Amino acid sequence: MDHILFVDDDSAFLDSTARLLRGQTDKWRLFFCDSADKAMECMAAHRVSLVVCDVRMPGKSGLDLLAEIKARRSTKNIPVIMVTGQVDMDAKLTALQMGASDLLNKPFDRAELIVRIDNSLKLKTFHDEIARQNTRLKDEVSDRRKISELVSDTISALVEEEQLDRLLQKCCTAMVDHLDAAFARIWVADEQKDHLELMASAGMYTHINGNHRFIPVGEYKIGLIAQDRQPRFTNTVIGDPDISDQAWAEREQMISFAGLPLIAEGKLVGVMGMFSKKVLKASVMDALSSVADGIALGIAQKKSVNEARYYSYYDPLTDMPNRKFFYVFLEKIISSANRNPRHFALVLLDIDDFRRVNDNLGHTVGDHCLKIMSQRLSKVLRSSDCLAYLSVEESPIARMGGDEFAVLLQDASDVYQVDRAVRRLLKKLSKSMAVDGRDLILTSSAGIAVFPDNGESVSDLFKNAETALYHAKKKGKGGFAFYSQWMNHRSMEILDLEIDLRHAVEKQAFSLYYQPKIALETNRLVGAEALIRWEKEKGTFISPARFIPLAEETGLILSIGDWVVKTACRQNVAWQNAGMTKIPLAVNVSGRQFGQQDFIQRVIQILDTTGLLPEYLEVEVTETALMQNPEKSVNDLAQIKELGVQISLDDFGTGYSSLSYLQKLPIDALKIDISFIQNILSNPKDAEMVRAIISMAHNLGVKVIAEGVEEKQQLDYLTDIGCDVAQGFWFSPPVPSSEFEVFLQDPLASNNGHGPSMNVNR
Ligand code: C2E
Ligand code: MG
Ligand code: MG
Repeated sequence: MDHILFVDDDSAFLDSTARLLRGQTDKWRLFFCDSADKAMECMAAHRVSLVVCDVRMPGKSGLDLLAEIKARRSTKNIPVIMVTGQVDMDAKLTALQMGASDLLNKPFDRAELIVRIDNSLKLKTFHDEIARQNTRLKDEVSDRRKISELVSDTISALVEEEQLDRLLQKCCTAMVDHLDAAFARIWVADEQKDHLELMASAGMYTHINGNHRFIPVGEYKIGLIAQDRQPRFTNTVIGDPDISDQAWAEREQMISFAGLPLIAEGKLVGVMGMFSKKVLKASVMDALSSVADGIALGIAQKKSVNEARYYSYYDPLTDMPNRKFFYVFLEKIISSANRNPRHFALVLLDIDDFRRVNDNLGHTVGDHCLKIMSQRLSKVLRSSDCLAYLSVEESPIARMGGDEFAVLLQDASDVYQVDRAVRRLLKKLSKSMAVDGRDLILTSSAGIAVFPDNGESVSDLFKNAETALYHAKKKGKGGFAFYSQWMNHRSMEILDLEIDLRHAVEKQAFSLYYQPKIALETNRLVGAEALIRWEKEKGTFISPARFIPLAEETGLILSIGDWVVKTACRQNVAWQNAGMTKIPLAVNVSGRQFGQQDFIQRVIQILDTTGLLPEYLEVEVTETALMQNPEKSVNDLAQIKELGVQISLDDFGTGYSSLSYLQKLPIDALKIDISFIQNILSNPKDAEMVRAIISMAHNLGVKVIAEGVEEKQQLDYLTDIGCDVAQGFWFSPPVPSSEFEVFLQDPLASNNGHGPSMNVNR
């Protein structure tokens, strides 16, 4: 029912109006006021739909009232019909200009009054409807604008942000900014752990390390969304049984919640959720769904990029950056140092004798040690007492491979401080560590190159730090060295050789040559020595005397040695199977190889797999090799002897030559070193020495082999003094297997004195 208010100072007129409209009271309720002020009070108290007001009133006039009605927000939409005199043209015009909706003349004609009132009311209804539609349209436009801004912010975050956490943070901020969210959050799913981790939060809560950082799948509203993979929307947060903290919801006046699973390629990658103090509209829910798809794709993509990056830039064993990472990092540091000159030090660390750990205790223990060392390194670098004077924030560490680590020390202008830091670093690294029930002490050595003095490029710095490391190692364990120019020349050669040697091992670029051993009494072939050959480039052989010591030092000898024994055994079996003369084939075994814990086991295995009888294998070991661990050596040799494998003591006369020790060794033969044989005719002392060795050996029941016999006279002399066997260029230099077959096919050749085929001098 519409409320109609009549305002006139003339109460008799009001009475007559009331009488006129008596028949209309079923559709209108009528109010009558005799002043403008009372009219305003009435409008405040009742929902008035129309005012009919006299222009002329004492005090506040009708026009004053009209002005007040139009000025107030609450009344400005109420239509006002102004009642004027017939001829009062000015007042009529003013009233219309001021917003009166219609004019009436006194006295009223009943029919006209009713029609005018009806029309004005209809007009008002129409106006109201338009106004309502207008507001709705405005709201819709603003909603759409907000949604499109949300979508556009999300898309630009997806395109621009490289880091996942920042990308998600931007998405949350967009939800708060454009959807009136009180706060918005995104959790990322961890498949392995079956929980969600909060990665971004914006709005009234921005921290991500609080209580709800980890949410198990299936718990709380967020965990349920992850479990069901279904979105949840509500506009009645207060009273929602899934919202556990109702007191909070009431206190904060939360109205709505929207939570959506983030699913990419059928996999749940996270959950996003927002609380709002406003009602959630359907359009917003739709928008959230499409934004969720984008965010899910973003997470999936960033995760796979991160994984790929992790695997290409990190070392999975120690969880440290790897060589590649460090190179890239160093490049960056160098280019910034070029703009902004400063010094920094590249420190290369290498664990001393680490191969011994691997060889003797196995790779599992070795890996464990590496992990402990890397943890120590990180910890030591982070603890301020070690690098008190150096800035540590950007001092990254990387595992460069094997047992080598690299550290970058910033602000290295004061060499004294770097010296101090490295000293303390090495000291802390060498503390004992418990691995596999053992207490191990591993020392490390370090090589230091300072930018820009010792190199202005990544490769130069590394080369020089490596050179310095090499020198540090040479000086002994647990030390360090700063790079200096003089180091370069000599060590570069050796380093190059080492690099080439590693390649050669990978490519198996070795071969074996064979040199015959001839019994002097019978002049017959009684054996041969297998000697390794490395053809670095076509026609260029590197002498084993040069690379074997390096292989020893680097540990490469283990795989080389294995290969030699295997190849020699295989070759001997092949010759025997081809019906050639059966002879024992000697292989040289270096100290480190012999010192291997499972050396004997390896020999047994090789004999097994190749099918060679043990008596056709001979090992040549030097005294020096045995003296590295004399007691173990005696034992090991006894075991080798037990197998039936023959043993020669190589290079005899150059080492300790301890008689009492020699007595204990279960050897078959002594090989007199080449240096004595070469001087045997010219130097009586050497001749005497050789004589003594022969008689002593014979007393012990050991045969004597002369190495490096080059001349007939040497041979004759040796025969005279009772030497048993000789080897040397006089008979043949070491030759490839195909050439050596000549000796094996024609055993009589060795019976006829030395034939031409035997004396192939090279
Ligand atoms: P070695 O075991 O004492 O081997 C004898 C060396 O003397 C060989 O040198 C051989 O070529 C050389 N030689 C033989 N007859 C004569 C001669 O009449 N005159 C002269 N001047 N030299 C002669 P090569 O092959 O260069 O080997 C040098 C050393 O390298 C060997 O000394 C041995 O200690 C080591 N070596 C060689 N092959 C292997 C291997 O497969 N494993 C290990 N661990 N060491 C090896
Ligand atoms: Mg030898
Ligand atoms: Mg020798």
